[in-house]
Amino acid sequence: MPTLERNEKEKIDLKSLTLPELQEVLTGMGEKAFRAKQLYQWMHEKLAGTYEEMSNLPVSLREKLRENFWYCSLEIVQVQESKLDGTRKYLFALRDGNVVESVWMKYKHGNSVCISSQVGCRMGCRFCASTLDGLERNLTPSEMLEQIYAITKHTGERVSNVVVMGTGEPLDNYDNLLRFLHLLTDENGLNVSQRNVTVSTCGLVPQMKRLAEEGLQITLALSLHASNDEKRRKLMPIANRYSIQELMEAVEYYFQKTGRRITFEYSLVGNVNDSDEDAAELSKLAGRTCCHVNLIPVNPIKERDYVQSEAKRVLAFKNKLERNKINVTIRREMGRDIDGACGQLRRKHLGEMHQNESEA
Ligand code: SAH
Repeated sequence: MPTLERNEKEKIDLKSLTLPELQEVLTGMGEKAFRAKQLYQWMHEKLAGTYEEMSNLPVSLREKLRENFWYCSLEIVQVQESKLDGTRKYLFALRDGNVVESVWMKYKHGNSVCISSQVGCRMGCRFCASTLDGLERNLTPSEMLEQIYAITKHTGERVSNVVVMGTGEPLDNYDNLLRFLHLLTDENGLNVSQRNVTVSTCGLVPQMKRLAEEGLQITLALSLHASNDEKRRKLMPIANRYSIQELMEAVEYYFQKTGRRITFEYSLVGNVNDSDEDAAELSKLAGRTCCHVNLIPVNPIKERDYVQSEAKRVLAFKNKLERNKINVTIRREMGRDIDGACGQLRRKHLGEMHQNESEA
């Protein structure tokens, strides 16, 4: 039914509206303004899966909503649980049949969810599985939120930390990301503290500066992965567009505007960026700004021949940074046994689907 499908897609995405926008829409439909807050709380605080659950809304209003809006919800396709640390990896189906993955991690200080911001990615980082097939489309704010809502309902536990570090480049989907951040941290919704939200970027300089000016208290993480332009260009095509010097200016600006300490992510790739000279060069860069360095032993993907640095090399690299008074941690590898790296589960799923199709 092509017409129906087209109409479905044109419907307003209810879960991506802010409370003031919802008020405007509902009063425009002849409803009382207080209904907007009730509806908002059903969606973003009580995490209602359907209109039927919204028991204090008149049936006639629920009917109107059903007819005129799109109520975003994700379907769980697969959940993998790590036997090592309880980390869970979720694969969700979107309404157009695309799939995205999210990760739920349990820490002493609370539960953390890592969400995807796009279906696929067009940044082309050499070691990353999410980007191998390019960008399919941006996620809507509601689809980003819903990853957290669906996991909250499935685990029955509150999510206190959110990291936008799954598939996609969040700053390449800037407007939707910003709306998502406002809805996520809104006091009438899940009310996640801005300080517990991290957005990770491969380094889109103009958007980093714009983010600095939004008046948010979120953490900005920069995927650096190399301490000079030449090496960085070999690992990340985006380094051809922005130099490390420009990145440093952007993070310094972010710190100046927000007072938030920057995180530098550095994936250690064996014999590529893990030497003592690399550590010394990285120390110089990191020493320029108020930051924290997060070392991530690269998670090898089968499409590329990058290997992890040896454990003693990782430690030596860390020690060198510490001697240079840089604040550094090695990221605990969560969910090693469940396709841990970004985009691996989705790729595996798509691969299996294609195989089934060709077998059929
Ligand atoms: N596009 C954003 C966020 C998604 S990637 C960014 O680039 O920051 C999240 C982090 O995981 C980034 O630091 C990314 O470089 C890193 N990453 C991706 N694939 C990886 C792999 N196979 N091993 C280790 N880190 C990886």
